[in-house]
Amino acid sequence: MPIDLQKDSLQTALRKLQAKETTFSLLEKISELGSWEVDLKTNKSIWSKQSYINYGYEPFTIEPSLQVFLSHLTPEDLPRAQATLKKIMASGQADTFQCRIKKESGEVIDALLHGQVVYDEKNNPSKLIGTTQNITSLMKLKQETQELSQLIEYSSNELYIVDINTFKYLYVNTGACKAIGYSRDELLTMSIYDINPYLTPDIVLKLKNQLLDAKHFINRTIHQRKNGTQYHAQAYIHPIQYKGAEAYVIFDTDISQNVENENLLRAQSDQLKHLAHHDNLTSLPNRTLFKDRLSQAVISGKRHDTPFALLFIDLDQFKKINDSLGHIVGDNVLIEAARRLQNCVREEDTIARLGGDEFTVILQGVKNIQDISNIAQKIVDDMREAIIVEGHHLYISASIGISLFPQDATSTDDLIKFSDTAMYKAKDEGRDNYQFYAKQMTAFAFERVVMDTSLRIAIKEEQFVVYYQPQINIKTDKIIGMEALVRWLHPTLGLVPPGKFIPIAEENGLIIEIDKIVRNTAMRQFALWYKYGLNPGMLSINLAMKQLNEKDFLSQLITTMKEIGFQSKWLELEVTEGQVMNNPELSIEKLKTINAMGVDLAIDDFGTGYSSLSYLKKLPLNKLKIDQSFVRDIPQDEDDMAITKAIIALGKSLNFKLIAEGVEDMEQKQFLIDNGCDYMQGYLYSRPLPAEAMTALLKNNQAF
Ligand code: C2E
Ligand code: MG
Ligand code: MG
Repeated sequence: MPIDLQKDSLQTALRKLQAKETTFSLLEKISELGSWEVDLKTNKSIWSKQSYINYGYEPFTIEPSLQVFLSHLTPEDLPRAQATLKKIMASGQADTFQCRIKKESGEVIDALLHGQVVYDEKNNPSKLIGTTQNITSLMKLKQETQELSQLIEYSSNELYIVDINTFKYLYVNTGACKAIGYSRDELLTMSIYDINPYLTPDIVLKLKNQLLDAKHFINRTIHQRKNGTQYHAQAYIHPIQYKGAEAYVIFDTDISQNVENENLLRAQSDQLKHLAHHDNLTSLPNRTLFKDRLSQAVISGKRHDTPFALLFIDLDQFKKINDSLGHIVGDNVLIEAARRLQNCVREEDTIARLGGDEFTVILQGVKNIQDISNIAQKIVDDMREAIIVEGHHLYISASIGISLFPQDATSTDDLIKFSDTAMYKAKDEGRDNYQFYAKQMTAFAFERVVMDTSLRIAIKEEQFVVYYQPQINIKTDKIIGMEALVRWLHPTLGLVPPGKFIPIAEENGLIIEIDKIVRNTAMRQFALWYKYGLNPGMLSINLAMKQLNEKDFLSQLITTMKEIGFQSKWLELEVTEGQVMNNPELSIEKLKTINAMGVDLAIDDFGTGYSSLSYLKKLPLNKLKIDQSFVRDIPQDEDDMAITKAIIALGKSLNFKLIAEGVEDMEQKQFLIDNGCDYMQGYLYSRPLPAEAMTALLKNNQAF
């Protein structure tokens, strides 16, 4: 090869070598790894550039040697280094050694040393080669990681890592073990469900879905310790990779104290709210809450079609007490009044104090005017009782105004306004009473409530009198009998007609007592008339079917008849069509026993109810009484005439006698005669009369 060519290839090789060296030196720099070698024959050392730097020298400024190398080791590492070197030399095996090197500048670094013996062709050790790597930053990282994991491990917070699918614990820290009371080994066999007693797979699924949307989130839960006690925990959950698999890390903090504080705050705020909505003195809802409740009642009333009543209550004489005896006494009176109000209504009704001596009550779910009146009356009655404060016997009363939803108004403002107006009406009426906004309601309710108590008094004080109305043979005008009709001689109202109180007495059962009085009085009277030869005919008595349900009705009747000397053939009982047909089977059975005693039976007000012909046939009847509503419009009303004719025909075909009620004029009488009616009763012949007047009429009749 020509010399020039040889030179060229040499240069190329040299360039390649240089390039490799540059790369090598760059790699050493990046990894802070310096290489070195010691010729074992000459004891000479060669260091790479990075080796100088690792030991703190400017590259190639000193003569490297094993002594220099060893002089940089810290005194504590030196013996181990020497021992390792010896071992490498003796075994010929490569070895590694971690130590600390003190650089020329005095700075101490962590280093990892590798060493290995190189043998010559005769297999004698020729070189010791190796590397010194500065691993200070790696060590620092390791230390930091260690510190961090210690921090996690010994943190007082609970930390759990769970499997993303099974929710079994993969890792738990000491804080978790301490908090929950299980050992680490125990916890690692458990899942989140074991310490979260209220957690269900459904909730967990929801939480999992939330985690898909957010990277992490906070959830509150309740943990149960091994000993069964529980505490509130706040969980911070984050998805992570743990040992190469997907997992959740959960940081839990005991927040029982916070929860307790929150509850305390809530209770305080509830109390504040209560104060804002309630009256301090009586603890009743105040005006604000009342208006709110009234609006609710209106809304729900409209939605569900439910009526309700609003009572506006003002205490009479309260101002006088307050002014003369002072506020403390006044306050006590108000507290007592509030207590009494609460006593009169049900728990679900709203009672409010609007201020001063004004109260309101919203009565919901009341079925009728009667119920409302009863409650209002109870309030009036209860308020009247003496209130004893500081030894004073104080007397107040209540004036109550009542408006009704929806009859009177459907807006809250109007309901309040109207109940207030009605309350003033109650004041005008002399206080100590209640008034409905609509006048007729008050009258209706008054009658009912008053009647109830007054009727009892009437029975006790014998305020009933019996009137008698003759029944006439329509062809001969002869008296064939009389109907006994009760009247109530009320001490202030005067003579009250039966239509006003019989329906109430039927409702409350007092009819039994009243009918007994009527029966006994009338039978006595009849026995007298017979005794004096006045021949009054049959005594017709109105009988409420309720009577027949009384166990001893018949035996009582028989006993009284005997006592009085009244014969059963003189007696006829009238039962209304409506009452008989209410329970026809039972009526038939009962009426048969009465009939068997020789007592006649008549169906009263016939035509106003719905009689079944088959039952009518079975009833042991003697008479049908054609209701006066059909007679009244004869001869103007053709329908009534047709009905009257039909009733007469029907009665005849069943072999009953027929009597027409309410005959007031001759035309009516003639029509009845023409159509075959047997008897009549009505003003045409005589109004119902008291016993004395009837005695005179009977005497007169005899004179004819
Ligand atoms: P009732 O049994 O149908 O009695 C007939 C009613 O018609 C009586 O009314 C009588 O005064 C009235 N009347 C009689 N003639 C005429 C007339 O020509 N024109 C008009 N407009 N009316 C006439 P009263 O006395 O007011 O009794 C009403 C109802 O009260 C009776 O109807 C009866 O159902 C009931 N009642 C009366 N007394 C008693 C009683 O002692 N016990 C029971 N349970 N009910 C009674
Ligand atoms: Mg009658
Ligand atoms: Mg009648």
